[in-house]
Amino acid sequence: MQVLIPSDEIQQRVRAMAHEIHRDHPDGVHLVAVLKGAFVFLSDLARALPGRCSLDFMAVSSYGTSTKSSGQVQLLKDLESTLEGRDVVIVEDIVDTGLTLKYMQNILRARSPRHLRTACLLSKPSRRLVDVKVDYVGFEIEDRFVVGYGLDFGEQYRNLPYIAVLDGSPKPS
Ligand code: 5GP
Repeated sequence: MQVLIPSDEIQQRVRAMAHEIHRDHPDGVHLVAVLKGAFVFLSDLARALPGRCSLDFMAVSSYGTSTKSSGQVQLLKDLESTLEGRDVVIVEDIVDTGLTLKYMQNILRARSPRHLRTACLLSKPSRRLVDVKVDYVGFEIEDRFVVGYGLDFGEQYRNLPYIAVLDGSPKPS
């Protein structure tokens, strides 16, 4: 396993992202995290946010236990809160093809939030299949399959405090 982004760099960047989000939402923000991968990022981001903050969770299908995207997105768990008139920030672990995020943005925008913005810890711009706007990006990375800091491979490695590349793991296609 090769460390790509060490823990202290992640912590520093997440704190900076929290301040950017606070600057754009001085009256507070409603964070919508995408399970399961975003749970660590959400936890650090929320604790670094200086202002008012509420939370909710959604779950969508992603890679399952392989490193290949099906390209199909399915809603597994919906929100418990309404979004109408609220300042909402989607909290995602990683944007790869962009299909998952595009789907999330479309269904959440239809619920009439005042603002809908997106924070992603990682982005792989070279893999994008759809044009999707990400307002706050932690790190842009190359086309490698990464684990740690909430991201899994076969439900393992989510607990690593850093982002790593698995030696010998296939690239997603
Ligand atoms: P997209 O729809 O943008 O192709 O994929 C988004 C989802 O795929 C992410 O939320 C994440 O669950 C999964 N994913 C994409 N790239 C990676 C990666 O490098 N590592 C892991 N563990 N999951 C990934």
